[in-house]
Amino acid sequence: MTRSFEESRKVFAEAVDLMPGGVNSPVRAFKAVKQEPIVMEKGHGAIITDVDGNDYIDYVLSWGPLIIGHTHPDVVAAIQRVATTGTSFGASTRIENELAKEVIRRVPSVEMIRMVSSGTEATMSAIRAARGFTGRDKILKFEGSYHGHGDSLLIKAGSGVATLGLPDSPGVPMSIAQNTLTVPYNNLEAVQQVFEAFGEEIAAVIVEPVAGNMGCVPPLPGFLEGLRDLTKKAGSLLIFDEVMTGFRVGYHSAQGYYGVTPDLTCLGKVIGGGLPVGAFGGRRDIMERIAPAGPIYQAGTLSGNPLAMTAGLETIQHLTEDSYKHFEKLGDRLEAGFREAAETYNIPHTVNRAGSMIGYFLTNEKVIDFDTAKTSDLELFAEYYGLMAQEGIFLPPSQFEGVFVSTAHTEQHIDQTIAAFQKVFKQLRR
Ligand code: PLP
Repeated sequence: MTRSFEESRKVFAEAVDLMPGGVNSPVRAFKAVKQEPIVMEKGHGAIITDVDGNDYIDYVLSWGPLIIGHTHPDVVAAIQRVATTGTSFGASTRIENELAKEVIRRVPSVEMIRMVSSGTEATMSAIRAARGFTGRDKILKFEGSYHGHGDSLLIKAGSGVATLGLPDSPGVPMSIAQNTLTVPYNNLEAVQQVFEAFGEEIAAVIVEPVAGNMGCVPPLPGFLEGLRDLTKKAGSLLIFDEVMTGFRVGYHSAQGYYGVTPDLTCLGKVIGGGLPVGAFGGRRDIMERIAPAGPIYQAGTLSGNPLAMTAGLETIQHLTEDSYKHFEKLGDRLEAGFREAAETYNIPHTVNRAGSMIGYFLTNEKVIDFDTAKTSDLELFAEYYGLMAQEGIFLPPSQFEGVFVSTAHTEQHIDQTIAAFQKVFKQLRR
């Protein structure tokens, strides 16, 4: 039976008059998949339900945070408990220490941490810390990497920006953009050349240790190690943007998984358990330069918010070594099922994976950077996307985003999804 999206249509038609493009964040407008957005109403575990009452197996998970599934009873209970004692004080609380201790225990580079309210704030603040600490202005980022929408970082950014075709947004001053150098992801030689030309001016290299905003693109062997060496030699800092990979790629985040320790780390998503959170942390000597311990200014009215700290702590406490084994198992099964279906129906495909981050591309090229990611057949992806939604599978509405699983996903969910791949690829066969 064909699903109806009548209510979604009505809600979105009203939203278009109220918010730019009808949304509060561009990728939600579904433009890249050429269909009207599906408007969501509720979620439990791995399942979400739209306003028309259609159920879906959710592989978006609010773009990553809901790693233990929607409305986990322990997270809900903790939020309810804290909501009755105070939602915000603008003063210190015990719960901030608890989340800080847990992050410090698990993320190798983090000796001290500052909580903020979004991933964008985390990366903006880490860049300021790096510039303030080194006394240098330039930063190096990678083409197709998205680090939030701060001015210095909205240069050749991926995902939403890539699908909208806005490599540089109007409103980002040239004087700021000039201080951001960009090279292709996984290209250590290009990084080396930039360091030869500008080494003494570079405050930091910021990198997603697994690129998640051009699909999923893991680092090639030696890439992260090479960045570590080059930055160290030049007196620049290495910043891992683990907003997406933090607590997702492994128990000790991507830096634990790959065994490379940066100077600073940005976090978000999972550490807020579905509430607005970000954080940056790292070497004590750098973090002690942040206000009020040091002169580098950074602040926030809702930073360390008790509700968000509680949801985050409750979420990461549910993530054990076994959770990552579960993700690995589901990831293996999903990857094999996708490949088999694509091979059966002769659909171009490449699958990349790092732990529970999975990226599949509708191209036969090996995907190692943004240019190779862009060889994916975007028309075919849009068609595939709509058909998968009809089968009850909710995927990120862009080729340039990874697919996530949670502890609430089961082998049965994966098998249902593989059956949908088979059905949809059969329809797509040309
Ligand atoms: N950094 C990375 C790697 C991200 O994936 C994102 C968001 O998707 C951000 C930063 C920005 O985080 P936020 O959307 O919370 O501002």
